[in-house]
Amino acid sequence: MLIDTHAHINFDAYDADRPDMIRRAFDAGVERIVCIGMMPEGGRSALALARQYPGKVYCSVGIHPYDADQYSDQVIAEMETLLREPEMVLCGEMGIDTFKCKIPLDIQKQAFAAQLKLATRANKGVCIHCRDAFPIVREVLETTGVPPRGGFAHCFSDGPEEALAWVKLGFKVSFAGQVTFKNAEKLREAVKALRPEDIVVETDCPYLAPDPHRGKRNEPAYVAHTASKLAAIWDMDVAEVRRITGANARKVLGIG
Ligand SMILES: [Zn+2]
Repeated sequence: MLIDTHAHINFDAYDADRPDMIRRAFDAGVERIVCIGMMPEGGRSALALARQYPGKVYCSVGIHPYDADQYSDQVIAEMETLLREPEMVLCGEMGIDTFKCKIPLDIQKQAFAAQLKLATRANKGVCIHCRDAFPIVREVLETTGVPPRGGFAHCFSDGPEEALAWVKLGFKVSFAGQVTFKNAEKLREAVKALRPEDIVVETDCPYLAPDPHRGKRNEPAYVAHTASKLAAIWDMDVAEVRRITGANARKVLGIG
């Protein structure tokens, strides 16, 4: 089963054609989509969308590192209420970004740790944004504890060593469209170091459209290109890659 584990389909990039875009995903064989909600407000719009496609679209809520300065007990409480809804299958995205994010590291760490604890209380998996920050992310995970359901190393963009370390921490490594890019040799080395049992796929749409759509608006239908690329790297049948990565995702998400 092909699952897009990370899609921002509630963004206004899709306001003009959202139902058509979602239909294209189902037509391309994408059977489940997780709409990632940013802050309680984004979580509520993701939830509203999930309710329009029962059993097909699910959702999450989290404080992105870019929003870490908006972290408060009140925000965590609102997220905790949202996470009680059955469509809410994931907490995040959360994590650390030292690449573009200007928010001080101690504030990012605080918001990240609070969400790990929240996910444990809510018995949800987590979706981790880690950009040029793996040693710091690992430190927070080790001090705070990995939620029992595990989670996804969203939009993985490091090398084989970090990929194996994520698996050791109890996570599935989530590959997005970059793995199809010409210059992504290090990412493909990471794929080779892993087994299909260690991996899930995502689009992170509207960003990061895979080849042959690179540079355009991304959408869940295109996750099929990423699954095909993984199959080519492993020299495996793509149906088998879809089946195994789909089962990995469903286990973390707790969905059928
Ligand atoms: Zn995202």
